[in-house]
Amino acid sequence: MSAPALTPADSAIFDEDVITEMEEHLDEPIACGIETCEKEAAWRVSLRCCGDSTFLCTPHYFVSRSRLGWSLIWAGAAQCAVCGTVFRHPMSYDAIVRVVPL
Ligand SMILES: [Zn+2]
Ligand SMILES: [Zn+2]
Repeated sequence: MSAPALTPADSAIFDEDVITEMEEHLDEPIACGIETCEKEAAWRVSLRCCGDSTFLCTPHYFVSRSRLGWSLIWAGAAQCAVCGTVFRHPMSYDAIVRVVPL
């Protein structure tokens, strides 16, 4: 079985415009990085391999945690979609992703 591709939020990848826009609105609450989500972000999660990061609300943070956990258990590995680093079971979420509360 091939390793599923991994991003900090599984689907959220920021392009330059979004990052610029975020920097312009630093005083405002940061929105969750999941496109369909309108909640305020509560966590900044970044991949330790390449530093690719995103902001997540608490529910999506837990979704990302459990999805990565299940990928490691069921596929035996997960691969970073940005730099290609492969993480293998039994690495923990916290060994792969750095989490900073906002
Ligand atoms: Zn990476
Ligand atoms: Zn969210």
